Amino acid sequence: FSSCRVIEPVGKTEFVLGTVCTISVYDNTKKASQAIDEVFAALKELEKKLSANDESSMISRINKYAYSRDVSADEETAFILKKAMEYAEKSGGAFDPAIGAIVKLWNIGTEDARVPSENEIEKLLLSADYQNINIRETSIRLLNPDTRIDLGAIAKGYASDIARDILKKNGITRAIIDLGGNIYAMGKRPTGEEWRIGIQDPRGDKGIYIGIVHVSDMAVVTSGDYERFFTVNGKRYHHIIDPTSGYPAENGLLSVSVISKSGIDADALSTTLFVLGADKGKDFIKKYAKDAEAVFITTDRRIITTDGLKDILDITTTNYQLGK
Ligand code: ADP
Ligand code: MG
Ligand code: MG
Repeated sequence: FSSCRVIEPVGKTEFVLGTVCTISVYDNTKKASQAIDEVFAALKELEKKLSANDESSMISRINKYAYSRDVSADEETAFILKKAMEYAEKSGGAFDPAIGAIVKLWNIGTEDARVPSENEIEKLLLSADYQNINIRETSIRLLNPDTRIDLGAIAKGYASDIARDILKKNGITRAIIDLGGNIYAMGKRPTGEEWRIGIQDPRGDKGIYIGIVHVSDMAVVTSGDYERFFTVNGKRYHHIIDPTSGYPAENGLLSVSVISKSGIDADALSTTLFVLGADKGKDFIKKYAKDAEAVFITTDRRIITTDGLKDILDITTTNYQLGK
């Protein structure tokens, strides 16, 4: 076929994993819609395992029964939890999958969101420590009666890797997987150029970007204070909690975007960096995630990037200053 032919993507959007998910396939293949259906079926299976809101999920079962006794999880749930525990250890608990009870207390992103009393937070804060989670092989045990596991900061990234693998297995080479802003850009555009993924302006309308990254076979994942939040007396309370305080993390950041080959790492990393802040965050990347790149957008309106990003990020905004 001729090189100027426009390929219309085959796409589908559904609400899964607590968010709007869109898969768009750009290959010229009849298998696309079948492959996409297979992806959504897998995402629904994952949701059944990982959802903290579904009483019958694997995670809810662990949260309900694993205090002071072993509950066996499936391999996949154990794999994701182990990955979360690695990030918890490396970040000294800035990323913490034991944050569940505190997350529930705030209920941010639901109609029941509210500011808890200091007393309520204090009562549950000790439970929100990954050292209360014991995992051997696929056996999980909780060491504090109030500890609740929450994999919300890593599940969508993992799911994007699964989606990519399913598409690949079906012979798909060009696709955009968008799980509520957790993007995986597979292969290249039909034109042969790299995908262009916008980095949301954290204080702009949806679709207003601070710049564009040019990527191929990469996850692009953002954690920001604008994605799920509520406001009381002019103060913004968002959904990424600092486990040391039990309050939304305030480390001078509006958002962090991470670019990595691995969706699960990009997701865990973006949340980790958001809690750590830009300075500690840059150190964390140098030490533990050399092949990942990050863009930090600060409350004082600077854009800070890792060195490797300079080649692939076109900054288009004038609302922020390039900073160090
Ligand atoms: P998003 O949900 O917008 O993709 P994140 O990947 O950063 O954003 O995940 C935020 C979610 O992770 C929260 O909604 C909550 O369920 C959970 N969470 C909040 N704070 C932490 C934390 N410090 N460590 C790990 N998970 C967290
Ligand atoms: Mg995350
Ligand atoms: Mg996420």
